[in-house]
Amino acid sequence: MTQATGQNAKDKSITKDSRSALMKGHPVSSFSNSAVQLKSSWLEQREELNRAYLHQLNPDRLLVNFRVNAGIQTDAKPLEGWESPQCGLRGHFVGHYLSACASMIEKDGDTLLKRRITYMIDVLAECQQKLGGKYLSAFSEKEFNTLETKFSGVWAPYYTFHKIMQGLLDVYTLTGNKKAYHIALNMSEYIKVRMDKLSDAEIEKVLYTAEANPTNEAGGMNEVLHNLYALSKDPAHLKLASIFDRKWFSQPLTDDKDILSGLHSNTHIALVNGYARRYENTHEGDYRDAAINFWKMLNSHHSYVNGTSSGPRPIATTPTSRIAEHWGIADHLSATLTGEIAESCVTHNSQKLTARLFQWTASPLYADIYMNTFYNAMLAEQNKENGAIVYHLPLGSPRKKAFLKENDFKCCNGSGNEAFTHLNSNIYFHDQQNIWVNLFISSVLNWKEKGIAIEQDCQFPEDNKTKITVSTKTPTQFIINLFVPSWAKRNTIILVNGESIKAKINPMSFVQIDRKWKTGDQIVMCFSYDFHYKSMPDNENVIALFYGPTLLAFKTEKELILKGTHDQIISGLSKQTNGSFFNLKNNGVVYELVPLYQITNESYGVYATIRNEY
Ligand SMILES: [Zn+2]
Repeated sequence: MTQATGQNAKDKSITKDSRSALMKGHPVSSFSNSAVQLKSSWLEQREELNRAYLHQLNPDRLLVNFRVNAGIQTDAKPLEGWESPQCGLRGHFVGHYLSACASMIEKDGDTLLKRRITYMIDVLAECQQKLGGKYLSAFSEKEFNTLETKFSGVWAPYYTFHKIMQGLLDVYTLTGNKKAYHIALNMSEYIKVRMDKLSDAEIEKVLYTAEANPTNEAGGMNEVLHNLYALSKDPAHLKLASIFDRKWFSQPLTDDKDILSGLHSNTHIALVNGYARRYENTHEGDYRDAAINFWKMLNSHHSYVNGTSSGPRPIATTPTSRIAEHWGIADHLSATLTGEIAESCVTHNSQKLTARLFQWTASPLYADIYMNTFYNAMLAEQNKENGAIVYHLPLGSPRKKAFLKENDFKCCNGSGNEAFTHLNSNIYFHDQQNIWVNLFISSVLNWKEKGIAIEQDCQFPEDNKTKITVSTKTPTQFIINLFVPSWAKRNTIILVNGESIKAKINPMSFVQIDRKWKTGDQIVMCFSYDFHYKSMPDNENVIALFYGPTLLAFKTEKELILKGTHDQIISGLSKQTNGSFFNLKNNGVVYELVPLYQITNESYGVYATIRNEY
């Protein structure tokens, strides 16, 4: 028997009730990487492009600067870009690399990467021993001396330290390499010794990051130390992590005060992911509120139409801050469309936070933003031909995606490599017995503990439907919660074994299918796509166009100026019969549009301006 109910998200914000429910434990959890495999599809091809890049890197070249710093002889040629021997951030990419490889190893046991990571951890352990058993980095610890005495003059040593520590923890938690865990423990002891010598006032100067492009950016030091505490349960790790939390930033967020304007986005979003981890460890409501309030202000007042953020700083004091990497005045977005908005690292960190908040709440609000950002930002960052990643994803017109070279080794190379090992990570969630389906991606979920498997087949979003087939060891009663996104405003059809469900299907909700499931049971979800637009919060005449879930990009070499009313523009849109191509007829011009995630080297535009004065 099938029961289906629509659970609507009436609240546009997190209510008091749901906050108190949070304290009782998280309603849903994600599945492990190994439980969910992508099936052959365009998304799996994106994952494989990323894997090929991880395979092609040479471990000895990745380790050059670590060996040199530890006084160990090496004949390997140094890498280039931000991993060159002259760059202050050298070593940071190695941390991302460890995390990305650990994820692939956990997912499907990639033997080449497993051998390589074992080798790299052995070398890193050797380097740490040569350096006295605590310190480990690709640069000298003198960098920390400079940071603690001059409070500048170095490029973010803690940022790099965090990446390496997190890489080590990921290798431990995802592949079971205990040596990696011990290296990270030693590194935390090194930090403790440094911090114990500093006064509160000195620590404040070392970690205060309110200026433009802060060179003392500490990355997710608080997050990795909260992660370490979750494993070790050593109160010293919690105490050390809390030093990096910085009350000047967390308290206004707890109080729901938007202080984001002028702050460097990737520096501070990393801190919020740390607050979320702190709350998960300690259940301190202040840090839960800081994370939830931040997410709301980010998505309601500082984000572009595809869930991305960062751009020009209102008061620009560095060349970068004139065009990139900072949050601006709340809701003032239409005049920020430089060629360098929407840093990919920021997008990946915001997706991490969104996925975490979904686990705390099971709210469709988070599922909706996650799906939008997944297709229209994250996948749009990667070159579908060769897997290269952009640093920025411009949304004005005319713009081009400036893909990073594979030997740039910039922050977004590293975070992009990590992100594309997690395409399978947030498709499904579960509680004690029930399953949530948040994304429509061809994949297999194998919930071994319950003897339940779910197979999803689709070409979403190009095709507007998905088919879900259930297998169970024995017939089992549980609920499958099916996500109905905000854009699915009409005529969504859900069939269970060919029969239409009776419940009303509301956008921005989970439809619950509660029945005794047996092998071969099948769900089909079919959506109706409409053309629609979203305006900038500060200018209703700056618009972006969607077809169902998909953000459309104009192929254009000129600035996009449209005429007519919003409705007239929407009625000028049509879908072409072959593939995902669209036309817009407007003011005597026929524009060609494609999904933003399909743009590679073409000149394009996303936001268009409506002007009727001339
Ligand atoms: Zn970046």
